[in-house]
Amino acid sequence: MAVCARLCGVGQAGGCRRRAPVEEEEEEVRGEEAPRSLLQLPPEILVEIFSCLPGTQLPLLALVCRKFRHILSTDTIWRRRCKTEYGVHENLRKLEVTGVSCREVYVKLLHQYRDILGLWQPDLGPYGGLLNVVVDGFFIIGWMYLPPHDPYVDQPMRLKPVFRIHLMEKKTATVECMYGPKGPHNGQIQMVKKGEFCTKCLQTDYHRMSGGRQEEFRTWLRDDLGRTLDDIFHEHMQELILMKFIYICQYDNCLTYRRIYHPPSRPDDLIKPGFFKGTYGSHGLEIIMLSFHGTIAKATKITGDPNVPAGQPTLEIDLTRPVRLPAMEQLRNFSELSRVILEIRDQISREERLADGAEEAKSSRAESSQVPPPLVRQEERPADRPETSENGERQPQEVQSFVLPEEVMARNEDYPRSCRICFYSTGLIAGHGFSSPERTPGLFILFDESRFGFIWLELKSFSLYSRMTDRFQNSQPPSLEAFDEMLQAMQQWTT
Ligand SMILES: [Zn+2]
Repeated sequence: MAVCARLCGVGQAGGCRRRAPVEEEEEEVRGEEAPRSLLQLPPEILVEIFSCLPGTQLPLLALVCRKFRHILSTDTIWRRRCKTEYGVHENLRKLEVTGVSCREVYVKLLHQYRDILGLWQPDLGPYGGLLNVVVDGFFIIGWMYLPPHDPYVDQPMRLKPVFRIHLMEKKTATVECMYGPKGPHNGQIQMVKKGEFCTKCLQTDYHRMSGGRQEEFRTWLRDDLGRTLDDIFHEHMQELILMKFIYICQYDNCLTYRRIYHPPSRPDDLIKPGFFKGTYGSHGLEIIMLSFHGTIAKATKITGDPNVPAGQPTLEIDLTRPVRLPAMEQLRNFSELSRVILEIRDQISREERLADGAEEAKSSRAESSQVPPPLVRQEERPADRPETSENGERQPQEVQSFVLPEEVMARNEDYPRSCRICFYSTGLIAGHGFSSPERTPGLFILFDESRFGFIWLELKSFSLYSRMTDRFQNSQPPSLEAFDEMLQAMQQWTT
């Protein structure tokens, strides 16, 4: 009975009716024999077995008997756990020199700090940002991701280490602040609550340089950013993020990070969701996150500015409204493109008014207000356009020529001259301090799997986005709901 109760997860008092009494007795006999036979196995087999168990279960196993405890002190087991669970591929034998065991690395470093691995947004007000905490050899490192220099969206991200944690001695892991010219120095990390931690520098004097503040600033510009003050005025956004970061490090010396997730991927998505860097008018390059939500796709700002802060949905793409581009010679003409897009916008408002009317007339048809009537949508979708969001399978898209209308400003003239498909979309515009935010019409252009563009009709400007190819581990959301909740929460973080 004891064995059966354990297997079924039901206490003895609750009883278990799943098996006949005869079978229960048999189980009981086997149950008694099992530990004996396990103990009889040669140690090397036990090492092999224990190496396959999650590291978190091993301490419990050590409580079973002295033999198990002894075997669990074998470092091979822990080396395997470090590799399997945390991807430590480093030659862990190197550790022997320092006298630190793989078990200590597992327990005091990897397991201890497992909750800070993954993607985070620093609390830098409207500026936001992206921090990726990874296991790197025997270190846990927090990398700040900065976009490439404006307007080169295709170049890789610039990475800057912000902190690192490692096991310098056996007792506890050491946290170090990585900012400043004098190398790593003492820092602190504290888990505030689930999904939030803060870092603190304990030696801010290490950030200082001889020659005073001005010299500090100039050296920082030159060494860290490869920039002069003049450059900054032209392409300042991501730099401002760093400035704010340094300001906080030096004067408040404590910085909070909130967990963000990589957008979940479904087989019928238009392209793979993920992070992109994009041009953003005179604000420099920004980081956005593209995610799919049924009939719409969203681009959420990961970095922001005082007008439209991080966390806001900068673009909303209506996947039920593909746009057939005018012929090349007409495409050059801004008013022609404008006419096409505004026609769709007016059509949408008409449908919404109709739907609202219908809703008032018959409250049971409330759902129709969310989705435009199919008949009208068919008209908007030319026959040769593929369905991309509703029938599951992604179909090959016809390539069409693309060129920006003459009046539209682009930071980067080096944009693709052909595209797969375009959709009616809206872009978020606001005044300073996110005042009177407004969704304005525009055109989403999908160039290929890793590049898309957006024409801001009202601003007559074009943004080009390019996929971040960096690998992000420990960043999958636990569920679709968790991801949606995060998106909602992000809007509150910075406003
Ligand atoms: Zn520091």
